[in-house]
Amino acid sequence: MIAYLDQQQQLLALDGDGEAETSAAGSDDDLAVLHALDLQAAADPAAVAAAGEDFGGIARARPVAVIRPATADDVAAAILLAARSPRLTVAARGNGHSINGQAMADGGLVLDMRSLGPTMELVRTSAAGGGCPAVDVPGGALWEEVLEWAVRRHGMAPPSWTDYLRLTVGGTLSNGGISGQAFRHGPQIANVLELEVVIGNGERVVCSAAARPDLFFATLGGLGQFGVITRARVPLLLVPCMVKWIRVVYDRFEEYSRDAEWLVTRPEPAAFDYVEGFAFVNSADSVNGWPSVPLSPDSPFEPARIPAGSGPVLYCLEVALHFNHHERDAIDQRAGGLLRPLRYIRGLEFAAELPYVDFLSRVQRAEDAARANGTWATPHPWLNLLVASSDIADFDRNVFKQILKHGIGGPMLVYPLLRSKWDPRTSVAVPESEIFYLVALLRFSHLASSEGGAAAELVAQNREIVECCRANGYDFKLYLPHYQSEEDWARHFGRDWPRFVERKARYDPLAILAPGQKLFSRSR
Ligand code: FAD
Repeated sequence: MIAYLDQQQQLLALDGDGEAETSAAGSDDDLAVLHALDLQAAADPAAVAAAGEDFGGIARARPVAVIRPATADDVAAAILLAARSPRLTVAARGNGHSINGQAMADGGLVLDMRSLGPTMELVRTSAAGGGCPAVDVPGGALWEEVLEWAVRRHGMAPPSWTDYLRLTVGGTLSNGGISGQAFRHGPQIANVLELEVVIGNGERVVCSAAARPDLFFATLGGLGQFGVITRARVPLLLVPCMVKWIRVVYDRFEEYSRDAEWLVTRPEPAAFDYVEGFAFVNSADSVNGWPSVPLSPDSPFEPARIPAGSGPVLYCLEVALHFNHHERDAIDQRAGGLLRPLRYIRGLEFAAELPYVDFLSRVQRAEDAARANGTWATPHPWLNLLVASSDIADFDRNVFKQILKHGIGGPMLVYPLLRSKWDPRTSVAVPESEIFYLVALLRFSHLASSEGGAAAELVAQNREIVECCRANGYDFKLYLPHYQSEEDWARHFGRDWPRFVERKARYDPLAILAPGQKLFSRSR
């Protein structure tokens, strides 16, 4: 950094290389505050412009300044600065991988949380806490950095992941953090022992399930509304050397979902370590169809195996088993035993073995490909839903087999999770039923636009899907929610909405934090 406060609580200085940058925009009041605090001196239009965009490429905003905090005290200073102004807001920006401007602050301050740095520390919880190993990570660290640090130095890693690891710890803990380990370990928000949070009055609070539990659970899945996460303590487990990664194909959704649900409810020793899956188009289309399934060019997809009369969409169950080198000889037998009762199409099995870190980093390779073909930089009108098991077959009929039967130019994830692994004290909203599915429509839009769809049309299609869920009365929630009206937010949180509002009043009464979520308006 360095924007910091002296004893008189004045923002004193910035270092010479643009640690805090201001735009020329902003209201007179805001500029007066910034001017008084000498912030406007180091304008960097490029940083300000970048903070007004995100991975979604749909929303735009114009922050007044981008601040690069080096410490939690710097975060507190920025929040206090905003609190003393009549209208400034503060958005923590992780890696800007939101879709709908959730990490933006139009006319406000953006905290570039990446500048908190990747310094990590191994800790051991107290004997009362089980004495287990854990890592203290800055809120702006990427999960990729956590993985690299923990495996390389200690041969350990957190239990629960996202598919893609170039997301920040603070960003995913503000939402949930879901991947194929969540059925067993819960989402990432169920795998945190302690947080350091800077709340809306600039106070730094260390909280956990035992100390200030209400703030701890409010912050987890709290959409950045209650405080800025500056540090998280995440438990660690010993890692395996290798992963056996397997995909099998189904033509009937009922069989796919029955097997997937059976797998995620198996007791641990008799189960896979990872369960996911996706829907794909029953065609030769290179992005949406059969070629999206094989794990290596050596074992291509054989369409002749697909039963006659199959529908427009097929399903791929994706599972993985961890193993160490001395278990190599037994792993095929173990995998075979677990696959045997499943009802997938025989002959449409694909397998690969790879080091544990490479398996967890698999989406980075997809990123490289998307960067090379230009689709990483185009708009991404993605939609993420959590749909109750009781409604997922109907969802399949109405959405996958009709609205999306030609694909979306990217993966259409659909796999089951267990509600009992999600702590109801956290802020995240999930369906009522014990088993619900993550449905993730990960569109890469220039491919879709070659079929005539522009980003706006795809946003409209997302709306149609959400309307379909509502009209059919499905038990569903948006994951990474995006709403504009209080009525929609109240419906999203349901009976927990009053708790969410009370927590906001307690921890950020001026509604300074995370304005890009469009949940509350800044008050004086
Ligand atoms: P940002 O987009 O920068 O911020 C998201 C929200 O969190 C904002 O409201 C922001 O203000 C707030 N925030 C950020 N940092 C902090 C902090 N330190 N303290 C408090 N609030 C903070 N999600 C999954 O669960 N599983 C996946 O497998 C997965 N894969 C993805 C793959 C890609 C390519 C992309 C683009 C997204 C994926 N996501 C996935 C979604 C991702 O978890 C969310 O978009 C997440 O918010 C992005 O993290 P980020 O660090 O970029 O956060």
